[in-house]
Amino acid sequence: MVDFSLTETDQKLVDLVREENDLGRPYARELDRTVEIEPSRLRGIHPSIAGRENPYELLERVHEETSGLVIAEALMFMASANDVELRDVGGHEAFGSMVLRNFGSSAQKQEYGHLNLAIGITEPDAGSDPAAMRSMAKYDPETDEYVLNGEKIFISFFNKFDGAVTLARVAGEDGARPEFGTFVLVKGTPGLMESPQMRKLGVRKHELSGFVMQDVRIPASARLDADFGKTLSNFNHNRPIVAAVALASCRSLLDFTRTQLEEAGIEIDYVANLAGRSAIVDRFLRLEASWEAAWGTVMRAKWLEHKQGMYSNGYRTEASIAKALGAKVAREITQGCLEILGPESLSEAYLAEKWFRDVRIADIYEGAGEIQRILIAREIFGFKRELS
Ligand SMILES: Cc1cc2nc3c(=O)[nH]c(=O)nc-3n(C[C@H](O)[C@H](O)[C@H](O)COP(=O)(O)OP(=O)(O)OC[C@H]3O[C@@H](n4cnc5c(N)ncnc54)[C@H](O)[C@@H]3O)c2cc1C
Repeated sequence: MVDFSLTETDQKLVDLVREENDLGRPYARELDRTVEIEPSRLRGIHPSIAGRENPYELLERVHEETSGLVIAEALMFMASANDVELRDVGGHEAFGSMVLRNFGSSAQKQEYGHLNLAIGITEPDAGSDPAAMRSMAKYDPETDEYVLNGEKIFISFFNKFDGAVTLARVAGEDGARPEFGTFVLVKGTPGLMESPQMRKLGVRKHELSGFVMQDVRIPASARLDADFGKTLSNFNHNRPIVAAVALASCRSLLDFTRTQLEEAGIEIDYVANLAGRSAIVDRFLRLEASWEAAWGTVMRAKWLEHKQGMYSNGYRTEASIAKALGAKVAREITQGCLEILGPESLSEAYLAEKWFRDVRIADIYEGAGEIQRILIAREIFGFKRELS
């Protein structure tokens, strides 16, 4: 039987995240304006939460008292509008570090495990179709090194991390078809050049840069035992989380909209039937209903991940469904709320316009909405490569 009740520890973790979000909210506007210009403003821990325990570190320690580590984690992400990251990178595991943890040997973990590693996949001509990647790695038997050349763009937090886990084609011997290899790149290696930070529409706390590899020599031991499929499979875990983060901003915007309506004398009546409610209340209720539906897909995906693991086929498709629906609904909810609120919602006096900007990314990164729908259709209808 599916049990929707939270354990005491689930609730405690959710409350901690909410409290932290409330503490950060007064700084959200200022940081949204400045953080991409002065990233140093977000280094370390914001004074407003000094001395507070990191809820995600607490989760690691107490996860046995929760409904399940991945379930509690999703609940936590959905509890905070993430208005501002008060901790440097939020204390969550970096994506490249997760690949290292999952596929690195014990020697590799020993060597690189202490580093924060970004994930470097996207290239100027390879985004939704990572198989189009052009970065190359060539093995040099004389030095037992790989020599990497290529460019990666839109790499989350590369500017502040210690390096990246990156994918490149490995030149085959005697003209053999190149296969993909996954490598650990550490900053400071000659030939590895960071590109400037990118300024963007939303999620400004989410710093973005890239790197160029020009004859970067790394030891052969920096190659992980992870091919293309294994490395990309790590997105399975994150996809519902992307939806969860967007839904959290939507929840804040829905609550804000409800308060504004109430101040204007419009009560949201959850009991009145269709004939008994105004168009604006009906619109609001429909937005809330789609939020609930998307929440359900995130929780179902995480429940499956908890039961079957993140590499199971059943979970993988549900993860795509949660991301596709959550990101789509987030765009509709934020658009709908702004329409209900009217022109004032665009004012910087409120965070409404920021939430609207922040959720847009959910339908782009970690597999755009169109790509998720292709993955879902392939799985449900049994299409294979025909649908691309
Ligand atoms: C804030 C942010 C953080 C990111 N972090 C990282 C990171 O850490 N590491 C990393 O490697 N990358 C990262 N990315 C890159 C991101 O994953 C890519 O932007 C994404 O994969 C889309 O690729 P693209 O930009 O090349 O767009 P394209 O692939 O060119 O897509 C453009 C549009 O075409 C659509 N489209 C593409 N192919 C199809 C198709 N077959 N059928 C129908 N529609 C299609 C897409 O859905 C999209 O709407 C990040 C991007 C952003 C904005």
